Amino acid sequence: MADSKQQLLVVEDEQTLRETLTYNLQREGYEVTSCGDGGEALELAREQSFDLIVLDVMLPTLDGLSICRILRKEQRTPIILLTARSGEVDRIMGLETGADDYIVKPFSLGELLARVRAVLRRTTPETTTRLEAGDLSLDLIGRRAYRAGEELRLSHKEFDLLAALIRNAGSVLSRDQLLQQVWGYDYPGDTRTVDVHIRWLREKIEGDPAAPQRIVTVRGVGYRFEA
Ligand code: CA
Repeated sequence: MADSKQQLLVVEDEQTLRETLTYNLQREGYEVTSCGDGGEALELAREQSFDLIVLDVMLPTLDGLSICRILRKEQRTPIILLTARSGEVDRIMGLETGADDYIVKPFSLGELLARVRAVLRRTTPETTTRLEAGDLSLDLIGRRAYRAGEELRLSHKEFDLLAALIRNAGSVLSRDQLLQQVWGYDYPGDTRTVDVHIRWLREKIEGDPAAPQRIVTVRGVGYRFEA
């Protein structure tokens, strides 16, 4: 959980559901503002800056799809739509409302909370300033890397590559994923660039670079960082 509570707006005209959602999201540690009217929701979304809006589709005065389309032109606040019928889903997606996700009613609270967390994870800027893995430590602000307290001399790309690997410790990252995360989508280079930098990085962080224990090659897939 972040230091300051994340602000959620819950828009749902069915009172019982609105109260249940509000109560449970508050219990999860979110700060929740709620309302049951479309026009009021649009005003609230314009007045305050929310981290996420949970928005019912069928609402009095202004429906959720219209709100979604209007807000998309004005701000980037993530939106999860609540829709009553699965038949509405095609319409929602077809209309290109710009919603980040949707949930079909009736849904379980667990499902909603999981979607809320997933959308927030995707959209919240990183607030981590340090990454740690075993005796490795990365200061993301100062862009310095340490191994057992000793500063490592890493190039810009080596640093970014190591940070990407540690962030995804335990999961395999393909060469393409690493290329995109570290070099960016527009980089004209090929995946051998990744292999070369992995080799350099291993020489700096592995006890025996020829038998790597931390940056492991997963044949035919990519690389995995072992924390
Ligand atoms: Ca409704």
